[in-house]
Amino acid sequence: MKFFFDEAQRLHNPVNFLSSGAAQPNPEQPGRVQALLDGAKAAGLTQSATEDHGMGPIGRVHSAEYVHFLRHIYKRWQRIEGASPEVIPNIHPDRRTVSYPKSAVGQAGFHMADTACPISEHTFHSAYWSAQTAISATNDVLAGAHASYALCRPPGHHAFADLAGGFCFFNNSAIAAAHLKQNGLRAAVVDVDLHHGNGTQGIFYADPDVLTVSVHADPIRYYPFFWGHAHERGEGDALGTNLNLPLKMGTGDEGFLEALDRGLERVQDFGADIIVVALGLDAFEGDPFGGLSVSEQGFAEIGKRFARMDMPCVMVQEGGYLCDELGDNLTAFMNGFQGV
Ligand SMILES: [Zn+2]
Repeated sequence: MKFFFDEAQRLHNPVNFLSSGAAQPNPEQPGRVQALLDGAKAAGLTQSATEDHGMGPIGRVHSAEYVHFLRHIYKRWQRIEGASPEVIPNIHPDRRTVSYPKSAVGQAGFHMADTACPISEHTFHSAYWSAQTAISATNDVLAGAHASYALCRPPGHHAFADLAGGFCFFNNSAIAAAHLKQNGLRAAVVDVDLHHGNGTQGIFYADPDVLTVSVHADPIRYYPFFWGHAHERGEGDALGTNLNLPLKMGTGDEGFLEALDRGLERVQDFGADIIVVALGLDAFEGDPFGGLSVSEQGFAEIGKRFARMDMPCVMVQEGGYLCDELGDNLTAFMNGFQGV
């Protein structure tokens, strides 16, 4: 199996985020890349160069206004006297359907859901190449590979069409799914990250052609709070094409796999041709977030479950934070998938 990555994805280097109001070191560190590279190689995957497919596939998912904001906001922010080194919003509109602001501060509030997605000098560049990595892996599968892995960093599943959030800027999994749809395929996104894939849900919420499934820690008392509940099922023609499977905090392998099985059953019923795995590894029992308790063996089992679907898979890296086992968990997933 091939995997894709571009060195530009290491450049984004966020410093802080606010956790319960306190500034903490941002966990979405460039060092994650090395662990994931090692993990992919240990599973026998071979690296291929990410190719530049331009803004077209990104523009299918994200608004022009938002892309323009991401591209230019860092320089605009630097012109504000006394502003922070990183772009961090300090205002959020009560409702986002009112007037679009002209000011950099106003737009930061409009386009950034929280303080966990600070924008610095290289953010746009890294996020752009992370998205290109997802598109390159998708094209690999479109060209006939059974599966392909996109080592995406920064991650993407919390980004909506015009809103960054939770370490995410461009929604790589959604861009992959939209690219598959554009190529006439019926795609299902199955998100196994610790956190609900709220951006992906939002992007396809009214789209009956893309199924979104997410297994995650119950958002009733956990990020992203406002999305990820079982009653959110899609809208209009797409009612029933979003399935949320929230789990009690601390759930281990057994409960996680039961929920995943339900999600994969839905993928079958939907008649999907292809799966986009939104591959977070932060449900791990030793992850710094500590929300769920999936073991290394659990990730191998998750990989096996996807293999059993006998469908092409585009695997897109989402979360999973620095701990000694981060790379090993990726290896375990890939080994499980490849039947090693
Ligand atoms: Zn996560």
